[in-house]
Amino acid sequence: MTLNNFIYKVSKPLGGLQVARFLARNHPRILMYHRISPDGSPGTISVDQFRKQMKLIKRSFNPISLSNLIELHEQGITPKHAVAVTFDDGYSDFAEYAFPILQEEGIPATLFITTGFVNGDVWLWPDKIKFLLSKKSQIKIPSKLDDDIRLEESSISLWKDISNYCLTLDNLVKEAYISDLFSLNDVCLPEYAPEGFEAVGWEQLNRFIEGGSVDIGSHTCTHPVLTRLSLSELRYELMFSKKSIYCNLGVDVSILCYPNGTKFDFNDKVKRELLNSGYKYGVAAYPTLDPLDDVLSVGRYSVDKDLERFTKTIFGISYVAAMFRRSMSSDEY
Ligand SMILES: [Zn+2]
Repeated sequence: MTLNNFIYKVSKPLGGLQVARFLARNHPRILMYHRISPDGSPGTISVDQFRKQMKLIKRSFNPISLSNLIELHEQGITPKHAVAVTFDDGYSDFAEYAFPILQEEGIPATLFITTGFVNGDVWLWPDKIKFLLSKKSQIKIPSKLDDDIRLEESSISLWKDISNYCLTLDNLVKEAYISDLFSLNDVCLPEYAPEGFEAVGWEQLNRFIEGGSVDIGSHTCTHPVLTRLSLSELRYELMFSKKSIYCNLGVDVSILCYPNGTKFDFNDKVKRELLNSGYKYGVAAYPTLDPLDDVLSVGRYSVDKDLERFTKTIFGISYVAAMFRRSMSSDEY
């Protein structure tokens, strides 16, 4: 049992959640969401689960937008029990399912959009792999030509394996690899995002920001891993996505969310170019004890559908366990 689980199981009946909430009162929880669906299909959180999570935030915490949280932090103010909701990528299900619930509960959110995706110029490469796997009961992969892989039970783990392999490739090599994967399996690679993988539209985004409860940030133009790009490609992704958001929404964005967002997906060069391109903040995809300590790698908690895990994150059990581990001088998180 992890320390995190131990604290949760032992302390919950004794009011431990409230104790953790108190201990974590100055630790902002910045939450990272991706997709919401009616039935909580793999890779998504169901509408019901999302509603429960938002109600819990509204009832027991202080929902605040990420940009407000950062502004206050820069003035030396840490709002108590702060929770900031963020969404990555810009899928259409944000408009369809997430936004109405956020409105109902009065919770602000930041949406990091991949501008080429919203334009309809590209769709996201991990979705291309998912789409391919949905079309076949068994597939061939280039490195294992003799071995046809049966999918039935293993499509999610195979999707992860192929995606992880793609993350090791330079951007153009990755695109070529995915294209080869489709050819090898006689599946036509759609030029535009097919049903189930579409983006939110610019008009919808305009309506959301007019309401004042949704902030927009950039998630680049095409969602590449930024450390895998040449300098000119990197500058294009940073500058052109910013420009595209300004042209379509009239918003001069200051926050960029790094695609994939692990410690290996951005570096000092990326941070330097981020600032040179007119951004002030960069957002990562992993939690840290002090999420606003470095505003070029703001820490976030990944949210999934498991309510127990969500409760641990939101009440601060995960934070308290990480603090305890650090006091015992092991690694954070
Ligand atoms: Zn993303």
